[in-house]
Amino acid sequence: MNIGQNLDTINQQLRGTSAKLIAVTKTKPIADLQEAYNAGCKTFGENKVQEMVEKWEILPKDIQWHLIGHLQTNKVKYMASFVAMIHSVDSLKLLQEINKQAAKNERVIDCLLQIYIAQEDTKFGLSPEEAEELLDTNTFKNLNNIKIVGLMGMATNTDDQEQIRLEFRSLKTFFEKLKAERSETHNFQLKEISMGMSGDFLIAAEEGSTLVRVGSAIFGHR
Ligand SMILES: *Cc1c(COP(=O)(O)O)cnc(C)c1O
Repeated sequence: MNIGQNLDTINQQLRGTSAKLIAVTKTKPIADLQEAYNAGCKTFGENKVQEMVEKWEILPKDIQWHLIGHLQTNKVKYMASFVAMIHSVDSLKLLQEINKQAAKNERVIDCLLQIYIAQEDTKFGLSPEEAEELLDTNTFKNLNNIKIVGLMGMATNTDDQEQIRLEFRSLKTFFEKLKAERSETHNFQLKEISMGMSGDFLIAAEEGSTLVRVGSAIFGHR
């Protein structure tokens, strides 16, 4: 694996789209992350808080760390001081805890609502209806230390490219609906659509992704 070359190739494929690359570094050793960093990549995604904290402690402090995996409320405190974005918000309770820990650190943490778009019952996330209900609560409207900046979704793990495309399209459609129907507020300013992984990031970019989360196509199989 030539990490620098893989990054170049992917960035070239994303040229002309609105998608930016998040290098998903989970399970990979520090040396691999350092290599990506030396090649100019400074946005990393991890799916476990403890692993992200361990790597953050060692690596340069200008790296932006994105938490992309399922998040338990009791883990938020360990990363609240530095996490750049949390992609996997799937409950009001979790959002309240992020808000609380962000306040302790005198920060506003950017968050994405994870929306369930796959035809599988193994993936986390909110239905579009549940997301709207969350946004309608007074509890949400009074949170001052989080900002919902977009949506995240994962397509079904299938070879059916058309199905994947339609699932990504459904996320984009929901994003546009929320933008059209809801005014921006202090904690609701949609700009990001996080969708696309190693196997489907080109489809995601074509369907309007702004953040693709790519791991194995950069660092090799886990
Ligand atoms: C692991 C992971 C990715 C990256 O997967 P690859 O197929 O290796 O690109 C993207 N998003 C999430 C949420 C992940 O957990």
